[in-house]
Amino acid sequence: VNAPVITIDGPSGSGKGTVAGLLAKQLGWNLLDSGALYRLLAFCARNHGVDLSNEASLKLLAAHLDVQFLAAADGKPQRIILEGEEVTDAIRNETVGAGASQVAALPAVRDALLQRQRAFREAPGLIADGRDMGTVVFEDAPLKVFLTASAEERANRRYLQLKAKGDDVNLASLLDEIRARDERDTQRAVAPLKPAADAIQLDSTQLSIEQVLERILSEVANRD
Ligand code: C5P
Repeated sequence: VNAPVITIDGPSGSGKGTVAGLLAKQLGWNLLDSGALYRLLAFCARNHGVDLSNEASLKLLAAHLDVQFLAAADGKPQRIILEGEEVTDAIRNETVGAGASQVAALPAVRDALLQRQRAFREAPGLIADGRDMGTVVFEDAPLKVFLTASAEERANRRYLQLKAKGDDVNLASLLDEIRARDERDTQRAVAPLKPAADAIQLDSTQLSIEQVLERILSEVANRD
């Protein structure tokens, strides 16, 4: 029998990554940050001088991606090691995010990453966050969440995050970047960002992370 999966899909900045990490911790389940795979591929391609539109080479890179996810521990989030080097923070910027969304539009790349994503489904369960977890990768997941928030709210959250890190950021350009990425992710031909027919939709614009978590956990309890 397949281990249970909770899928959490939504646009960037909706809070799904944070919510997924907290849920995995609370339930003691495995975690798949599928966006990180597309980020890693874009990052790796740059390192190896592979053009982000070269589908055949990207497909090969994706199939051989040498990556390790080290489980969250001691209050620290999951760590990511690419070709032996820690890249946990290095893949979290808008340049890599935009590259990720570019390579993610290529069917051969998505296909090459499919089995790798499904391999995360192990006992006692999996929390999978991304864009197509409920619609493609784990279509049979017993609980699917689609988490959204207004573009303004998402840009604002990102702004506060980056400012806290000491980055020099501009709210208007963050909002433009978020809108551009939404557009690319929802309009692409393969696995576009959209709620699964059987997903619970949650708008987090007015909700705290704790409130979102509470809603999802109450759904889990209802289904047991
Ligand atoms: O979630 P995150 O911002 O890390 O994702 C980076 C990009 O990877 C997204 O903008 C999207 O284009 C792509 N992605 C995807 N399918 C997923 C997860 C991410 O296409 N399941």
